[in-house]
Amino acid sequence: MSFAQLGLREPLTTTLAALAYQTPTPIQRQAIPAILAGRDVMAAAQTGTGKTAAFLLPLLQGLIGEDAVPGAGGVRVLILVPTRELAEQVMESCCRYAATTTIECYAAYGGVKLGPQLTRLQAGVDVLVATPGRLVDLLTRRALKLHQLRAVVLDEADRMLDLGFAEDLTIIFQSLPRQRQTLLFSATFADAVRGLARSRLRDPVNIEVSPRNSAATTVKQWVVPVDKKRKGDLFLFMWRDRNWQQVLVFVKTKKTADELAARLQSKQIAAEAIHGDRPQASRLAALGAFRDGSVKVLVATDVAARGLDIDGLPQVVNFDLPLQAEDYVHRIGRTGRAGAAGEAISFVCADEAPLLAAVENLLKKPLSRDEEPGFEPSHRVPPTAGPGAVTRRPSPSVKVAAKPAGRRGVPGNWVDFDSGSRSRRPSAGRSRGK
Ligand code: AMP
Repeated sequence: MSFAQLGLREPLTTTLAALAYQTPTPIQRQAIPAILAGRDVMAAAQTGTGKTAAFLLPLLQGLIGEDAVPGAGGVRVLILVPTRELAEQVMESCCRYAATTTIECYAAYGGVKLGPQLTRLQAGVDVLVATPGRLVDLLTRRALKLHQLRAVVLDEADRMLDLGFAEDLTIIFQSLPRQRQTLLFSATFADAVRGLARSRLRDPVNIEVSPRNSAATTVKQWVVPVDKKRKGDLFLFMWRDRNWQQVLVFVKTKKTADELAARLQSKQIAAEAIHGDRPQASRLAALGAFRDGSVKVLVATDVAARGLDIDGLPQVVNFDLPLQAEDYVHRIGRTGRAGAAGEAISFVCADEAPLLAAVENLLKKPLSRDEEPGFEPSHRVPPTAGPGAVTRRPSPSVKVAAKPAGRRGVPGNWVDFDSGSRSRRPSAGRSRGK
């Protein structure tokens, strides 16, 4: 099966050959023809399986050969993503795939000055990648004209809701033309959100290429039980003992991220921390340095968990388990991408047993435990009861708004999400940073 057989044409096929994309991935095989046919799509795919190209390529093909440039503030394709890093990454992919075309892509996200974005958008743009908060800012300032919009993509849709973007999404969708193609992509879908989102799409093609909430099978995952206070020592030991070359480390708090990075730096290990308190420029610089290999250990809070694609990353370490089990799948999805092998190791202390149980329940399998000699915990990590046995999740993954009353288990502010009511358009002067 080739990309041409899926319906993609020149110059995209030549670009893909130059990128050494030989065959479409499963999500691409299913999504590309459906999107080319103009269908709405709701797709669940494992992280790292090529879902960005699955939506970008057919949308780009639709734009190729369009003579009219979008007018002032015009946008043809809008891609909504939950984080700034993902916005940059999707924009870069878009520029790469569209390199030999005249299609212009741009990313607009919060945490950086609005002025240059306003200036750039005046000229219009073919593909705009945006975080919801910043997009609402731009709409409020009437910097965008969305009447020419032909397609909207929600990438990591469940995470956008999780991060509290439901209200922004309501505003955004009310500003979109009713005649449009809507694509919803995510690695994980809470059932309630899935059901409701489906009602926003027109007769969607439902694509599920792999079991929900599972990580790539190429990732070897296991748990090292360890006392909380010894996690730092264990990391240093394993770094040296296993001769790790590059590791993405996930921690729970910004403080831990800074402390661990500082400790590693004091041992002459090139380490950086990224988290929400660091200015956007330094977050991107740290990520860039990790990508080019000059930084060997990147210590991150979950801000970095979604969507980031780092070539050939061999190792992910969960220094702390995530509070939400779904984040585990996203975290370990940073390795084992595009069919490569990877390892995901979780340092688990006794307090984290409920979190471990939630992860195992989500994965529907127990994770093997492998104590590291010399680091056996004095506080034993209690056995988890096994998949299916977890009755209490540490925190809900989808915040259910109390008002307005939605359907049972459905965020109220998703009701009438795209009903065409204009009453909740952004009022002039509303401004919020993200
Ligand atoms: P994504 O899941 O979209 O983040 O993609 C994961 C990685 O797979 C990225 O590095 C892409 O460049 C790469 N990729 C996507 N599609 C293909 C393909 N058909 N063949 C080879 N690599 C691909």
